[in-house]
Amino acid sequence: MTISKNNLSLRIFNTLNKQTEQIIPIKDGHISMYTCGPTVYRDAHIGNLRSYLMADWIRRCLEYQGIRTTHIKNITDVGHMRQEVLEQGEDKIIDAAIKEGKTTSEIADFYTKRFLKDEKLLNILPATKFPKATDHIEEIIEMTSKLIEAKTAYEINGNIYFSIKNFKNYGKLSGNTQISNLLNNLRIEQDTNKINPNDFTLWKKAEKGRKLKWKSPWGYGFPGWHIECSAMSIKYLGNFFDIHTGGVDNIFPHHEGEIAQSEAYTGNQVVKYWIHGQHLLADGVKMSKSSGNSYILNDFKRLNIDPLAFRYLCLTTKYNTRLNFTFSSLKASQKALFRLQHRIWVISNEKKLENNTKVENQIPNWENKFLSCVYNNLDLPVALSITWELVKSDLPNQTKLKLVEKFDKILGLNLIKSIKYFKTPKDLQIKITKRSLSRSKKDFHYSDEIRNQLNNESYVINDYHTNTIVRPKMKWEKSKELWQTFSSSKEIKNLTNQPPKKKFSIGLVTFNKLSDIKRSIESALKFIDAKDIEYLILDNGSNFKIGKWLENISTKFKNIRTIHIDHSIGEAEAKNILIKQSIGEIIILLDTSIEISGDIFNPIDKTLSNKNIGLTGPFGLKTNDLNHFHDGEGEYGYMDAMQFYCFAFRRNIINEVGFMRKSFRFYRNLDIDYSFQIKNQGYKILADPNLPVIKHPHSIWNSTAPALRDELSKKNYKRFLDKWRNRKDLLEINQM
Ligand code: AMP
Ligand code: ZN
Repeated sequence: MTISKNNLSLRIFNTLNKQTEQIIPIKDGHISMYTCGPTVYRDAHIGNLRSYLMADWIRRCLEYQGIRTTHIKNITDVGHMRQEVLEQGEDKIIDAAIKEGKTTSEIADFYTKRFLKDEKLLNILPATKFPKATDHIEEIIEMTSKLIEAKTAYEINGNIYFSIKNFKNYGKLSGNTQISNLLNNLRIEQDTNKINPNDFTLWKKAEKGRKLKWKSPWGYGFPGWHIECSAMSIKYLGNFFDIHTGGVDNIFPHHEGEIAQSEAYTGNQVVKYWIHGQHLLADGVKMSKSSGNSYILNDFKRLNIDPLAFRYLCLTTKYNTRLNFTFSSLKASQKALFRLQHRIWVISNEKKLENNTKVENQIPNWENKFLSCVYNNLDLPVALSITWELVKSDLPNQTKLKLVEKFDKILGLNLIKSIKYFKTPKDLQIKITKRSLSRSKKDFHYSDEIRNQLNNESYVINDYHTNTIVRPKMKWEKSKELWQTFSSSKEIKNLTNQPPKKKFSIGLVTFNKLSDIKRSIESALKFIDAKDIEYLILDNGSNFKIGKWLENISTKFKNIRTIHIDHSIGEAEAKNILIKQSIGEIIILLDTSIEISGDIFNPIDKTLSNKNIGLTGPFGLKTNDLNHFHDGEGEYGYMDAMQFYCFAFRRNIINEVGFMRKSFRFYRNLDIDYSFQIKNQGYKILADPNLPVIKHPHSIWNSTAPALRDELSKKNYKRFLDKWRNRKDLLEINQM
């Protein structure tokens, strides 16, 4: 048995027997591990990457113990009947690529390359092999045939199913044997061919027009979801191997299916330790494309964020707890990582000033302290704090460096290498010497001036009693922020308790459609210069070009102000920020599809001078039963809700009415929800169809796939109904 030099070795939670166990290699000195890898018709999102980081830390721990590892990470390059395939967004990407003449393998190659790049940027050790599903169809067919022979699988109409009743251990990993609930979630039609609805597919007959298909003894078809991992893990790691990793969502049905196939095929237990990582949430909710919070590593590039800041962030939460990702926490991690790397650079410079003290006896204690956390079910957050404790301690610098080098073999933060050795150029050295001289004469004005100058030239300088050291800034340290950006509404001050400073605030949420934004803003320009109006823009994570255009227009016109958010926060949050920051007595929220064609301000002011009216605008909605809203059809009068195209209210009602509900990330139906919030405080909603505005097509609506926008609208409608379904008393039809 391999035991590390200091008698410590990794103990980790095994999902199979629900116990934290010491990892004892099947073959002495060697571990075989398999990680469910990426699906390559899209980018891996940062949740997927968290799972790969977990596998990387496990592997680094084992290698630290002197164990050799063989690590297999599969590349799923064949589409399965999985949820994301059905999500409109992704189908569209694949469809579009195919229409452009790309083949499915070109799409897969493209995303495989991007995945490998992401892993490299995150310092994830490359797997020994990345086998592709499409290269293993033969093995898959062989395994399937053998399962049919063994009568654990059966054929119906060219489809092969695994019969769970013929495998007595089905459910041993997850405790689950039912897929019926899951089916509802996946929105997959029930397959009527199956004998038992919980049987799962090993091989699926190709439907008409399908491109990716292979010849098999059962006709043309393609493999089911789980079989590729059984086939490839056994091929490369054998009939009994040590570790299998994945995210918790893989436990059922994917890994349960894998166990059934592999064990029915080999006749014995195949995987010794099953290890699963908890999910990453984004902004508090499950990451999904349709919620608009599915981030990829490339999203960080624009914000000049070091990918390793994400690795650092993942180190701050244990692998078996959920991690709530926010851009604020990512930025905080980036700062912490820079501070740590900087300190280590300082330490390595101080080392040169140090006498050679004998310190080696301290090393085992610190190493043991660190490893006992890491090996204790991968308690990396504590290990990270020990690293900080170490660099801040009064240990001799040489000892610190030796230890940091060891720790970083596991942490993988480039702590030693991040700041390369730097030989100060001559002209810079002259400046520094001059500066040191002025410091010694206490001429701090001059020394600060040079410090600032160097800072602007992208150097970092550190002063000591006797000398000064300089280094170039790291790539990611150089701020590219051309304007201030915020990461969440929490960072933005609420001004609604202060008295108004203007008569009107116009609020506009913008995203990536410059022509709409221009039309909308330009249509308001002639009014905002003439009247007591501020124009507030919330740049909801737009691209650089739009961000810049908004900055320019805000500089040019003093009444226009832009607040930039570094990513797309939900619609309700975005509008809440506009409300929070408005200083006008009346707030008019406009949509970018609206062009102002005349004076809307006087009529709105007149309507809202009636204190019984809480909300006005041109496009009212009515309902008789809450189940269906229809528009006010050009009628002037009281309504049940007002559409967001143009939505005006007095700022002082916010204290009673409150802000919008954050759970509405998509815009649709948020307007009826907020209308009801306003009505619930006893206010009326008046539609004035004569307000001079032109309504153009709505670009977000038009650019969202029909199935997706319907789904998002429905979800929001349900949120609305869950809160208001018993409040028919608020309806106009029930008012006297
Ligand atoms: P997939 O590409 O969906 O097969 O996922 C690749 C890996 O990422 C699997 O191990 C999943 O369990 C894992 N995974 C998926 N979503 C998340 C998430 N939000 N957080 C952490 N891991 C995830
Ligand atoms: Zn898998």
